[in-house]
This record gives sequence, C-alpha cells and structure tokens, in this order.
Amino acid sequence: MTVDRYGVMGYPVAHSRSPVIHRLFAQQTGQELQYELLRVAPEKLEEAIRQFQRTGGKGLNITVPHKRAVFRLVDHLSERASTAGAVNTLSFRDNEIYGDNTDGIGLLRDLVVNLGLQLEGANILILGAGGATRGIVGPLLEMQPRNLCIANRTLQRADDLVERFASHGPVSACSFDAVPVAEPYGLVINATSAIHGGEVPPYPEAAISSQTTCYDLSYSLHPTPFVQWAQEHGAARAVMGWGMLVEQAAESFHIWRGVRPDTKPVLKQISITA
Ligand code: NDP
Repeated sequence: MTVDRYGVMGYPVAHSRSPVIHRLFAQQTGQELQYELLRVAPEKLEEAIRQFQRTGGKGLNITVPHKRAVFRLVDHLSERASTAGAVNTLSFRDNEIYGDNTDGIGLLRDLVVNLGLQLEGANILILGAGGATRGIVGPLLEMQPRNLCIANRTLQRADDLVERFASHGPVSACSFDAVPVAEPYGLVINATSAIHGGEVPPYPEAAISSQTTCYDLSYSLHPTPFVQWAQEHGAARAVMGWGMLVEQAAESFHIWRGVRPDTKPVLKQISITA
C-alpha cells in the first residue's frame, strides 16, 4: 500500500516543525501519511510543485517566502486565500491544485481560544506586510478591532495591504519610524521574518504598555528577540507563535484528511521538545 505524501516547501525550511506536528496529528488520529521537509529556492518553486503533484503528492504547506508566488499556480482558491492573496496550503486532487490559507484561522484560534484575548474594540499593530500578514489581516478585521495598523520596512507593501483590506474594516499603514503611539496597543504582532537575521523590527517603545500582549509569529525553544524585547519593555504578555503554528497545521490537516486533531497535547509537546 502506498502512503499518502505531504510536505512543507520553503526557503529556508530547516527550522520548520511542521513534519513533527503532522506526525503527531497522524499518530493521534490513526492516519497513515508521510510528511517531508522540502527546501526549494524561489526560481525552482513551480517546477518543484508540479513534480510533487506528478509523483502523486497529496498536499503541501507553503512557507516563507513562497506564499504569494504560489497564488498564481493554483487552479481553485478558497475564499480566505483569495481575500488574502496568499496561499499556505495546497491540495492535489484530480490533476488540479486547490489553494487555501489557514494562517488567519490558526492565529485567531490561538489568540481567542488558547490565550483568551478579547479582540473586539482592540487597538492592534502588525509589524510586517509579507505573506503571513496577508493571511491574518482579514480574519483579525472580522473580530471588529477599533483599529489595525500595519507597519512595514517597505511602506509600499503595507499601503498595498491597506488598499486590499480597506473595505473589511479600519486598517492603516505606516513605516516603523512613524508608528502612531498616541494610544498604546492592546496587541502587537510581529509578522516580520527579522528573526532569521536575529533582529527585532525597529518600532517605538511607546507602542507597548503594561496592557499590551506582544505576539511573535516566529517561534523558538528560547525566547525570540522580539519576545525578549517585549518582556524587557514591560508588555503584559509576550508569546511566541507555537500556538498559531499548531492551529494552522491542524486546519491544513483537516482540509487534507477530513479529521480535526486535538491541538492541546501537540502544542504542549512541540513547544518543549521541538
Ligand atoms: P515574507 O517573506 O512574506 O515577509 C517577510 C516580512 O518581514 C516583510 O514584511 C519584510 O519586510 C519583513 N522583514 C524581513 N526582514 C526584516 C528585518 N530585518 N527588519 C524588519 N522587517 C523585516 O514572510 P512571511 O510573511 O511568510 O512570514 C513572516 C514570519 O512569520 C516568518 O518568520 C515566519 O516563519 C512566521 N510565520 C509563522 C507562522 C506560525 O504559524 N507561527 C505562520 C506564518 C508565518 P519588507 O516587505 O520590507 O521586505
């Protein structure tokens, strides 16, 4: 019997814990599958995806920096992937490619269900305007925050997202040195990939207070630079993105296998033994 094949494609990808998470989900739900780590450079992306499809692969997670590029390769887009303009989950069925985006629902499940945050009426700041931000802005705006500001190194990318999401709710853009700080933020999300260079995005200290939850989409066995920075500057809470990682993976697993795993034991195991 051949085992269904899945994987994660990224560049870099060695840090990804997705293979471990999907193995734990498979054990927990009694599913037989194989999940590979696939390091693919941007210029090889299309070829690698087509080859995975040709050789019988069933599904892929797509990570940094390919989430936008893969958008144009899919035959069918879910509504949330279409709204985001970015794809993190591919399914291969009947010779066609289906694209979805589970980042937003993954983050919301962690913030609202696991961490118990109240997002309605909140003042939210997102640092970064890449593929991950595209996936989370729509779902965050659905929670009816008071304001959602996107700050990015390249201002044009943040502006593009504001244009894309303006009809979904109160969203604005700025560069890091122009983050509005008249009122502190209830939630500051680091969605940059600055961790790969060991950096913290340069944003004003006044953006956080003892009421602020700082959430780093990046994760590590030790506190990330952003989490350390937030702790040192008096944030109420500073959390790494392990919960989002496990929740978005659970949503992908559900899309592929039709079974929803219990995320709690996997989150507990992965964040201490990854
Ligand atoms: P992209 O490559 O699409 O975007 C990267 C973003 O980071 C851009 O906004 C870029 O700015 C910014 N950036 C990169 N380096 C720096 C730096 N040194 N200083 C300031 N800004 C910088 O990546 P993704 O959006 O896909 O992912 C972002 C991060 O989120 C990654 O670390 C990824 O691992 C993590 N992630 C975690 C998930 C989870 O489940 N926990 C899910 C999805 C992502 P510019 O536009 O100027 O280049």
